[in-house]
Amino acid sequence: MDVREAQAIITVSTTVERGCPSCSQRIGGELEFDESVRHLIQQHGYVLLHVGSQTTHDGNGGPWHSTVAVLGSVDLPKKNAPADSARFKSMDPPKSFSELGEELG
Ligand SMILES: [Zn+2]
Repeated sequence: MDVREAQAIITVSTTVERGCPSCSQRIGGELEFDESVRHLIQQHGYVLLHVGSQTTHDGNGGPWHSTVAVLGSVDLPKKNAPADSARFKSMDPPKSFSELGEELG
């Protein structure tokens, strides 16, 4: 993926937990970091752009370190669209009652 084509950028952090932009999965947080990155890549087709460390300050002014991963996608996030499986489903219109009746004989 060319980063200039990215329509969506998401940052996963070991210290920030948030919702996945495309489904109900929680992403980020110390324990879910690896799984969150895997989820975005495999389930939603994101590409890993950057992994690094980030230092902010805790409540006492001390350093607070976290690891962040920045991922990009050429597709805009679609809520409740779990990746490829649902994306290209048949677009046949729903059958009418008369059609169903003919099929049943
Ligand atoms: Zn998701």
